Amino acid sequence: MRRNIVAGNWKMNKTFQEADDLINEISEGLDDISIKNVEIILCPPFPFLEMTTDYAQESNFSVGAQNVSSYEAGAYTGEISAQMLQSIDVEYCIIGHSERRKYFKETDEILTLKAEMLLKCGIIPIFCCGEELPEREAGNHFNVVKTQLETALFKLDPLDFGKIVIAYEPVWAIGTGVTASSDQAQEMHAYIRSLIIEKYGKETAKNTSILYGGSCNAKNAKELFANPDVDGGLIGGASLIAEDFLKIIQSF
Ligand code: PEP
Repeated sequence: MRRNIVAGNWKMNKTFQEADDLINEISEGLDDISIKNVEIILCPPFPFLEMTTDYAQESNFSVGAQNVSSYEAGAYTGEISAQMLQSIDVEYCIIGHSERRKYFKETDEILTLKAEMLLKCGIIPIFCCGEELPEREAGNHFNVVKTQLETALFKLDPLDFGKIVIAYEPVWAIGTGVTASSDQAQEMHAYIRSLIIEKYGKETAKNTSILYGGSCNAKNAKELFANPDVDGGLIGGASLIAEDFLKIIQSF
């Protein structure tokens, strides 16, 4: 079901104590602000997930992981399965982040497997897509995103696809301080929705949340979220500072 979402991707940051402090600050902050029609998701590193799901029982946010194995179980040293995430009440999982595509060679084919694993365990994938700067400069950004969606996600049956959250994250905007303009974000989000209409129909497209990610912060969130096809944000750097993250949540 389409809903406004603000998700914080902590990446590989924070110690246990720092994570505890940040969750506390966010929880207390959420008690003090009025939250209008927005779901909040915290995506801390794996070692802090259980602590975060414990906090979530008393607070107004959901919990997401940043990655999952494409394998079900067994001799895969170092991997974390969807079933393990499910067993500690994780509800969302980011897949296909550009950093995982770049540094860990995650392909769209692997992402289909990851999405299927998650959906089998009732966990909602937050699927990241987006073009690199040379691809945009060459005018190829729509094709890049189309291929990512078609290769990784459009193999899912309509029921499964209907549960997915999409995050458009132009790679050139991630962690750079350069944000896509409001028009660039809206243009790509509307395009993504048009692809979903073609593949799965109007109703599914209308109900799919499409988030923007890439240097979204307390200053620019309001303008970005005001666009009709931007249903919130996947926030990296600004999600590590409670005050900024809370301001972004209040941007709806
Ligand atoms: C991200 O990594 O998903 C992200 C959007 O990062 P940042 O907000 O720091 O650009």
